[in-house]
Amino acid sequence: VLTVFGSANMDLVATVPTAPALGETVTGTAFRTVPGGKGANQAVAAARAGGVTHMIGAVGDDEFGAEMRAALDASGVGTGGLRTAEGASGIAHITVDGKGANSIIVVPGANATVTGLAPEDERRIADSDALLLQLETPMEGVIAAARAARAHGTRTVLTPAPTQPLPPELLDAVDLLVPNEHEAADLTGERDPHAAARALLALVPEVVITLGARGSLYAARGAEPVTVPAYEVEAVDTTAAGDTFVGALCTAYGEGVAMPEALAWASAASALAVRRPGASSSMPTRTEITAFRQR
Ligand code: ADP
Repeated sequence: VLTVFGSANMDLVATVPTAPALGETVTGTAFRTVPGGKGANQAVAAARAGGVTHMIGAVGDDEFGAEMRAALDASGVGTGGLRTAEGASGIAHITVDGKGANSIIVVPGANATVTGLAPEDERRIADSDALLLQLETPMEGVIAAARAARAHGTRTVLTPAPTQPLPPELLDAVDLLVPNEHEAADLTGERDPHAAARALLALVPEVVITLGARGSLYAARGAEPVTVPAYEVEAVDTTAAGDTFVGALCTAYGEGVAMPEALAWASAASALAVRRPGASSSMPTRTEITAFRQR
């Protein structure tokens, strides 16, 4: 059983030939709304990968909130811990230009209310094998969740994104840190992933640094680092590759699968996701991941 504590945002995606300059209006070519947010995306990835997954977080009492809840339900994510807060849901206003470059405005909305744990949230965390955290909700809530996991013997996995300084109270309760190479460099000042992993092991017992098409690097205290290759696929859309990777990784981790094997499984899940357009809609099911690995 996995609990994901974190954000839910409605992504409002406008496609334009050229992004507008300040004061300028441009005509776009397409618009869509897609349920997203790192927390919700990771929960969907884990549930699709076949793990029993619950989400703790908040949506607003608006239409976006109802849509996001329904999307999580449809993906098999338990939403008993997803509160409906008064006011607007979190949104990400995304402009994608003709070259695929984007600019993004995030308005946290209901995510800003996720500042602590209700008693039933603590029970959910206690009953889970692993807790998965990111940093799109207020730090005080993330720390409370990590501490609850530590108190109940639940393994804590942190995706340190968006990058920000990690307080010692949080790091003390983290078992596995999963940054991408940019986040790892920001956190340590080391561009080389091996050097960054060594620096991060001073803070937490286990580290996985994801390296895009170059795979991932796993390091644990007292062991030789292991590089896990990515699968060679034609990348169509790498949005949420990292969220798919860590969601699938936590499903395997929660089921007691040993690390190099769990990483190979997560690599297969994310390779399948980058072959298809979309974020959560591109995340593969357990059947698809298993079939892909046996091909
Ligand atoms: P993020 O999306 O957080 O930046 P990465 O780009 O490091 O994360 O990707 C996470 C994982 O997804 C990688 O470790 C790799 O296994 C897989 N992946 C990402 N891009 C590709 C790609 N082009 N081809 C195959 N696998 C990929």
